[in-house]
Amino acid sequence: MKHYQKLIGIGLCILSGASVSLPTGHLQAEPTLKKAKQAIPAKKLFGFVLGKADLKAKAIGYYTRGCLAGGQALAVDGPAWQAMRLSRNRNWGHPKLISFIEKLAKEVKAKDGWPGLLVGDLSQPRGGPMLTGHRSHQMGLDADIWLNPMPTRKLSYKEREETSAISMLDKTRLKVNPKVWNATHVNVIKRATQFPEVQRILVHPAIKKALCKAAGSDKGWLRKVRPWWGHHYHMHIRLKCTESTCKAQGATPAGDGCGKQLDHWFKLLTRKVKPKPRCIAGKLAKKGKGWECQCPKSLKRVALSKKGAAKCVLEDGSIPRPKVVKKNLNWMPKACHNVLLADKPPLYNSLQMPAGIEIPIRKAQALATEK
Ligand SMILES: [Zn+2]
Repeated sequence: MKHYQKLIGIGLCILSGASVSLPTGHLQAEPTLKKAKQAIPAKKLFGFVLGKADLKAKAIGYYTRGCLAGGQALAVDGPAWQAMRLSRNRNWGHPKLISFIEKLAKEVKAKDGWPGLLVGDLSQPRGGPMLTGHRSHQMGLDADIWLNPMPTRKLSYKEREETSAISMLDKTRLKVNPKVWNATHVNVIKRATQFPEVQRILVHPAIKKALCKAAGSDKGWLRKVRPWWGHHYHMHIRLKCTESTCKAQGATPAGDGCGKQLDHWFKLLTRKVKPKPRCIAGKLAKKGKGWECQCPKSLKRVALSKKGAAKCVLEDGSIPRPKVVKKNLNWMPKACHNVLLADKPPLYNSLQMPAGIEIPIRKAQALATEK
């Protein structure tokens, strides 16, 4: 939290300079807003917004750099699903995604002998990057569906926070575990691929392998199921972007992906990689067989371990904070600025979040309308 407060502090200082309503205020406004947009990470602006942008529903940008207008919340409980981790407020999506989940949940319950879906993260109310986890899930078209079946009883709030998803892998982490994985999983994943709006489904390579085996000669549906890191607790379902405001992802490679492509994944999973050492505020460079954390001349190098981990610090021992953060509001598509600022976003203010976060957003809004 400290780090965050500092950053917002920077945002506030910069902005308070512009709040002076002198005749010159207008002239000052633009560069000031610019600085504020550079100093605050976009995930901190989108991550604390509680409600949807009341605009026409639109997925904007791309899965890994975008936002969501007119988001809709998935009901916490449905006839065939329960939403998990409610404190994260990530049960929001494009209305298309919400209706897809509702349909899928009802179908797998009626036709596949699956008790219902445990729904993990979708998107934030206005999409955008998140404070924790996920590179994608930014425009309301991605959904994580847990791979353990839904209990038939209604879970409490606490259980939804604390119950863990179950890995489908055995101890080798290269195969599915027959104690938890069964034919019903195959049916459920296959069912999801049958919806035309589904662009792809990401699962762990070992799950893809199990699906390839179970599919027999009926492998056409496997084209949409792609292997990816992680994803052994849940499957990640991505819907197609069909609006002019978003960028579509390229089609999945032709074929079922069960052959060589999949073998390659197992090579990746079994290779031994030496982890790179930590390098804080410096630049990690190759040195001999190992790595070295190099510091700019203005900073002092403090070793953290013998294996090359180090941090670069200021004279007082503190780590310098960048004035410009890479993934700030300017990094987002322009249309996302309006999504963020639309109808005075209600903000999350527990978790010791300083009320101040509201001020940069409101100010930015005021300044944006001034132009
Ligand atoms: Zn996901």
